[in-house]
Amino acid sequence: MNRKQKKNLIRIILASVLMIGFIFVPVDGVWKLLLFLIPYFIVGYDILIKAGKGIIHFQPFDECFLMTLATVGAMIVGLMGDGDFVEAVAVMLFYQIGEWFQSYAVGKSRKNITELMDIRPDHANIEKDGELVETDPDEVEVGTVIVVKPGEKIPIDGVIVEGESAVNTGALTGESLPKDVMTGDEVISGCVNLSGVLRIRTTKEFGESTVSKILELVENASSRKSRSENFISKFARIYTPVVVIAAVVLAVLPPLIFMMTGGDPRWTVWIYRALTFLVISCPCALVISIPLSFFAGIGGASRAGVLVKGSNCIEALSKTKTVVFDKTGTLTKGVFEVTAVHPEKADENTLLHLAAHVERYSTHPIAASLRAAYPDEADGCEISDVKEISGQGITALVNGSAAAVGSEKLMMSVGSEVTQCPHDHTGTVIHVASDGVYLGHIEISDVIKDGAEEAVRSLKASGIKKTVMLTGDSKRVASSVAVKLGIDEVYSELLPQDKVEKLEALIEARKPSELVAFAGDGINDAPVITRADVGIAMGALGSDAAIEAADVVLMDDDPRKITRAVGIAQKCMAIVKQNIWFSLGVKLLCLVLGALGFANMWTAIFADVGVMVLCVLNAIRALFVSRL
Ligand code: ADP
Ligand code: MG
Repeated sequence: MNRKQKKNLIRIILASVLMIGFIFVPVDGVWKLLLFLIPYFIVGYDILIKAGKGIIHFQPFDECFLMTLATVGAMIVGLMGDGDFVEAVAVMLFYQIGEWFQSYAVGKSRKNITELMDIRPDHANIEKDGELVETDPDEVEVGTVIVVKPGEKIPIDGVIVEGESAVNTGALTGESLPKDVMTGDEVISGCVNLSGVLRIRTTKEFGESTVSKILELVENASSRKSRSENFISKFARIYTPVVVIAAVVLAVLPPLIFMMTGGDPRWTVWIYRALTFLVISCPCALVISIPLSFFAGIGGASRAGVLVKGSNCIEALSKTKTVVFDKTGTLTKGVFEVTAVHPEKADENTLLHLAAHVERYSTHPIAASLRAAYPDEADGCEISDVKEISGQGITALVNGSAAAVGSEKLMMSVGSEVTQCPHDHTGTVIHVASDGVYLGHIEISDVIKDGAEEAVRSLKASGIKKTVMLTGDSKRVASSVAVKLGIDEVYSELLPQDKVEKLEALIEARKPSELVAFAGDGINDAPVITRADVGIAMGALGSDAAIEAADVVLMDDDPRKITRAVGIAQKCMAIVKQNIWFSLGVKLLCLVLGALGFANMWTAIFADVGVMVLCVLNAIRALFVSRL
């Protein structure tokens, strides 16, 4: 509870005590009114001020105005008729109780989110003359060696140059098992170092590090509004004036008709009904609970390692009916090992030597495995003119001859013939040519990720109608993977731009309400991620392009997280819809009852505050979507 909340709680309690006490004071009329004005002002002065400001600025139609109008009206009715002023005070009181509750709930969920986003490091340790100096992470230059002690957060992305330890990635990925790291491993900021002292050479500036990216993402999430949210704010803008006009009509029209037909106009009855109508009509529950639900949903998702960039993405994700996957790195590990070398015009060693050299600078997962297969890569050979052709492979000049390492397409484009590998495998075949002469191929075994099959199956179970795989790899490998995983449609031998085209075709063919999501690993998929209705980047920490492009960022590369993300979005949207229908339904019912004279102001305020409290509680549930 913060200070304002404490103060308001005291006001509420004080006003309730006074109000109940004054019921037993034996005075009448104006004296009684003056008495009840004390708790009324105590609990409602800020509302009155806000309503006054609204009128001065010609924007009177907000809930403060509604409350002021209703309570002042109730006092006038009391003065003219039944002498009851409790009601006016009670309406204000309950309204404030509702407000208090809501601010408490919002504060709670905000706190929850910042707590789970408690990954911002406050310093980086730099060694100077044998002593550790705490430095602002912002001031650490790329390439500096920083020291992270056990228990500290890793402040900046980098590579371990000394030490081994276990790190907890929980705050980032939702994964509770610690990960072992040692010299040479890359580590990302935001993880907590658990056991040993680590010396890390930073590879990024703080502002470009994972931690900063994530914080930025979460901080901006609330500004990207969903359609439901926009609908609600537009709705409130039209709704309030309409209700006020309806109330005026209700107060004036029936008495006039009665008067003209010679009956008793009963002004106070109709004015009272109109005031009740106003109290009921306050749309607070909707206006408050919808953004709160999304907010809580985004918080809940990030707890599970699913970063959603805004409530519009939650809404889109919940409507997804087709999920399109990239193969390498998304469904398969992309961590390869060379399993066989089939030389034709050269020996095994030459082939591996060439491949490893050409791949020296590539970040593609294939590159790492080719480099690993030829350990003494740094042997003084001259490499120049390296060109990475996205989705095909690499060409370069090695000791003066033009080497090409990659797919069949690449071989064709350098004018080399290709020998098909006769073996059956899930892995990839990398062809090697030199000066347009085919030298042979290298077989790499890629393995399907542990959770991939379950991911595809569970997506189906959660209402996804179609799964599709797009890959730059050969047809044989692609269909073998697709069959193993139970994927519905496969398109192979695609270049990155072909992937965009295929995805656009899928988007073209879908119904407007059934969206298409694309999940990729972000190595060369950023264009496809951008083009999808919902772009999902997985394990993308480190790939800035993918984080920029994506709507949803999965913190680790487990494909089951995709199902998780869809599930979380569906649950969050379900909560939003429950709130919309429930509060609109109750409102409508009360409005009708109020207009007909079956509901008095007490029922009205109970309905209003009650609905709001229930909606806010329901919204808070979204914080726990990851557990539902
Ligand atoms: P996917 O679409 O399955 O993610 P990519 O588009 O990354 O696969 O790559 C498609 C194909 O292009 C690979 O199967 C490989 O034959 C070739 N290729 C891409 N990058 C490289 C590279 N760095 N070295 C060798 N071959 C590559
Ligand atoms: Mg890929």
